[in-house]
Amino acid sequence: MVPSHKDMWFVPLGGCGEIGMNMNLYGHAGQWLMVDCGVTFEKHEQSPGRRNRVEMADPAFIASRYKSLSGIIATHAHEDHIGALPYLWEKFRCPIYTTQFTRNVILKKFKQYRIEAPVMIVTPGEKLDLGPFCIEWIPITHSTPETNALLISTRAGKVLHTADWKLDYAPIVGQPLLPKCFQELSHQGVDAIVCDSTNATKAGHSVSESALFEGLLEVISASEGRVVVGCFASNIARLQTLGNVACVSNRYLGVLGRSLERIIGCARAAGYLQKNFNPVMSSHLGYLLPEETLVLATGSQGEVGAALYRLAADSHPDMSLAAGDHVIFSAKTIPGNETEVDALVSAFKNRGIKVTQADNNSIPLHASGHPHHDELLKMYKWVKPRVAIPIHGERRHMARNAEIAGEAGVPVQLTGCNGDLFDLTKDRVQRSAVPNGRLYFDESQDSLLPVN
Ligand SMILES: [Zn+2]
Ligand SMILES: [Zn+2]
Repeated sequence: MVPSHKDMWFVPLGGCGEIGMNMNLYGHAGQWLMVDCGVTFEKHEQSPGRRNRVEMADPAFIASRYKSLSGIIATHAHEDHIGALPYLWEKFRCPIYTTQFTRNVILKKFKQYRIEAPVMIVTPGEKLDLGPFCIEWIPITHSTPETNALLISTRAGKVLHTADWKLDYAPIVGQPLLPKCFQELSHQGVDAIVCDSTNATKAGHSVSESALFEGLLEVISASEGRVVVGCFASNIARLQTLGNVACVSNRYLGVLGRSLERIIGCARAAGYLQKNFNPVMSSHLGYLLPEETLVLATGSQGEVGAALYRLAADSHPDMSLAAGDHVIFSAKTIPGNETEVDALVSAFKNRGIKVTQADNNSIPLHASGHPHHDELLKMYKWVKPRVAIPIHGERRHMARNAEIAGEAGVPVQLTGCNGDLFDLTKDRVQRSAVPNGRLYFDESQDSLLPVN
């Protein structure tokens, strides 16, 4: 199966019909381009310590054609977009292209797995030629810095691959989203938009990162003892907001958890977290006055062994919480993690520790990084593509996203799933055109095995 110079194909191998393990392929003139290579975490009975098992798209289709792979693009630093690179890169052995911050995160992973792969830096706004593909990097706002949409142009067609996004006009870190960057695309004649569906079923507009400072300051200032905030490590804007809150509320900032420490290092090396973000050494946290302590912690999804889990069990080596302290979840509970999060909340409450969760708080303490109905509508109206292809969602999210595209006047909506071939010159989907499946990483055998 080889795309001709008249073809423009889109073939998702992962992330289409599910949220997680994104792996997208574009095909033209005998060549392929990979956009993102991520993992998903699946609960599995047999996985050691009830830990989530790492799963990813089976790349057999493209691995057997690796010589015609022009490059791999990483749109942003989330695990569902870059997490499979350390496991799969050896099968592709081609350069990876991404921005500075995402590169820092990828290189840290590669170092851990002893992989030496070329990871090239791209500046947002740049145009990059990879084989027959010309790729323009268009900065877009999301819940991690330096996320880019891609305008992928070939002689047969032009596609806007949005990556994960939201419309944030005040994102705290990085540049606000510029509507004109997307409005201008309508003059170029975009054939298709391949678009994030995660929050398509949600009405209205997502909350801006900058809207969280007030609520967080209010709940933290009203707390009498220690405050621990659980949040997603990769959300650098949230870390900055909490650093600002620490300064204003006269509390020392602390950080507990390896994934937070790692990502803070990557962020600082890319120029973020330079002001109002000076955490004290975690071994000193136990000596601070409770009312002067604000600690950021990993484990907001109830992950076994993460900082919040250990604090709940009072087995953290650096700090003990006591009755009257306050744990705040500045994160939503990802569907499927309710049991673990509820157990964590109960463990704190049983010890007299107050808990506040963003999920059921009247003032916003968390902002999603994905577009709601109004944002999707705007994007479709700005870009005016001929075809909308919803991805990054379960079937119901993608179906709703397709409806919104129709509402915005996009003439053709194509929905499908992993392994389908979207023919963008004929506006057709060929079902199950390429083999697809899942692999999981078996820690005991240190190898990748197929998921049955
Ligand atoms: Zn994603
Ligand atoms: Zn993302």
